[in-house]
Amino acid sequence: MGNILTTEDRIKHFEEFHKKADYSSQTCQASRCMSCGVPFCQAGMMISGMASGCPLNNLVPETNELVASGNYEQAYIRISKTHPFPEFTSRVCPALCEAACTQGHCEDNPVPTKENEGAIIDYAYEHDLVKEPAPKVRTGKSVAVIGSGPAGLSAALYLNRRGHKVTVYERDDRVGGLLRYGIPNMKLDKRTIDRRVELMKEAGVEFICNADVGKDVKPADLLKKYDRVIICTGAKNPRDVAATGRDAKGIYFAVDFLKEVSKKLMDNDYDSAKIISTEDYSFGSLKGKHVVVIGGGDTGNDCVGTSVRLGAANVTQLEMMPKAPLKRTDKNPWPEWPKVLKTDYGQEEAAYVYGEDPRIFKTTVTDFVKDKKGNLKSVKTIELESKFDKEKGRFVMEQVPGTEKEIKADIVLIAAGFLGCESYVMDGFKVDKTERSNIAADDKDYKTSVKNVFAAGDARRGQSLVVWALEEGRKAAKAVDTSLMGYSNL
Ligand SMILES: Cc1cc2nc3c(=O)[nH]c(=O)nc-3n(C[C@H](O)[C@H](O)[C@H](O)COP(=O)(O)OP(=O)(O)OC[C@H]3O[C@@H](n4cnc5c(N)ncnc54)[C@H](O)[C@@H]3O)c2cc1C
Repeated sequence: MGNILTTEDRIKHFEEFHKKADYSSQTCQASRCMSCGVPFCQAGMMISGMASGCPLNNLVPETNELVASGNYEQAYIRISKTHPFPEFTSRVCPALCEAACTQGHCEDNPVPTKENEGAIIDYAYEHDLVKEPAPKVRTGKSVAVIGSGPAGLSAALYLNRRGHKVTVYERDDRVGGLLRYGIPNMKLDKRTIDRRVELMKEAGVEFICNADVGKDVKPADLLKKYDRVIICTGAKNPRDVAATGRDAKGIYFAVDFLKEVSKKLMDNDYDSAKIISTEDYSFGSLKGKHVVVIGGGDTGNDCVGTSVRLGAANVTQLEMMPKAPLKRTDKNPWPEWPKVLKTDYGQEEAAYVYGEDPRIFKTTVTDFVKDKKGNLKSVKTIELESKFDKEKGRFVMEQVPGTEKEIKADIVLIAAGFLGCESYVMDGFKVDKTERSNIAADDKDYKTSVKNVFAAGDARRGQSLVVWALEEGRKAAKAVDTSLMGYSNL
């Protein structure tokens, strides 16, 4: 981990842009940790509706102290007490710990705890410290985990450690959920997932891929076969864009696009050159194409970075909300999560290649314009402004007449958010739903309305973060263990 490759270097391929750990530099950085009296970095508490600090409650100051003294082995032992998979979050986490770091408050330069975490887990793998021994005693109880994203993997890891027989059912051809088929390879190398899954298999976790529960596998059969079931199926339903001409050819949902590219990379043994040169995609090729990404969030950013690598002529990213300030405002004090402008790797790369930041703020699409063959040729946009809606009692974004524009577009990628868990999974198990179409279960015992059925991760809380999915998997495992054994030491 550590320093990022230069923009020029990294856009030529789909290999990870994180560099290998530089242990002496991390040791130096970790020594800046002040072991604060009130370490918000490890609190994971809700402040003003958003989490501040690590949801896993990683013991950040203690771990930093061990890194500062160069004791990476003990640091690994310490982080493993709270964290199932540091190799994932050290690559993809937005680092809530750093946003809540006192050094960030005082000097605007937080301790790079995420990089330290990367160095710890790199060291642990390099020195053969990462082990997953099979449990010495089996309880005779069995659990089916549905979905192998970070929530499912986390639940499976802990339940197996406790001695329960765990079987993970996965709809896709490979394990990993959005770690595998959402987040692109340059941010998270898929071999990182394989390495961990191999350890889990050796320890006794069974993975069954290409098994779509609710379609190929009957929920009722699982309830008969296993003592408990945990649904960790994510929140895949994408939010669509209601604009005229939506049936134009050339419009794709972001995750379908990202999944196709990641799958092609793995099917071609990680040969970036091959997948950049081929036109064998459902969208043909992006070479020389004008790409418009709708949605300014992380998923949209991944689409921008992927389009740059696939040779798009240019990429525009439309965002409904106003541009965030560069620094915290008085209304958003530390240690709240900072609502500031974030320029991510994809936007940086697009600016490098095309000469400007791809984002256009406060703008939405009103029309997808087609040619005579029904192919997309442009999108019509309009600017938005924030107005107070008295009836709704809150600010809403309204269109501003006279600000219409037209942007050339061969391909549109919709990254406009997600609308909850897929209904066939919830209907198959007959579990109650929330108003937001997620599975109804609280975050204390993770029980659904159906006996012996639990839920965790995005399927329960809605589209969120990897670190939250890991935490939910861990807590759901504890709840299942308690319901099976009467107590839990997880
Ligand atoms: C493009 C993209 C990029 C992201 N980038 C980041 C990031 O950088 N950092 C971050 O912290 N978060 C990121 N997120 C969010 C993060 O990936 C999710 O919050 C997290 O993966 C949720 O984990 P999960 O296990 O609940 O669900 P998922 O990861 O969605 O996994 C659910 C799994 O269940 C399987 N499944 C679904 N239905 C069935 C069924 N019926 N039978 C069997 N299997 C089924 C799916 O195939 C999938 O493998 C990103 C999300 C997206 C879409």
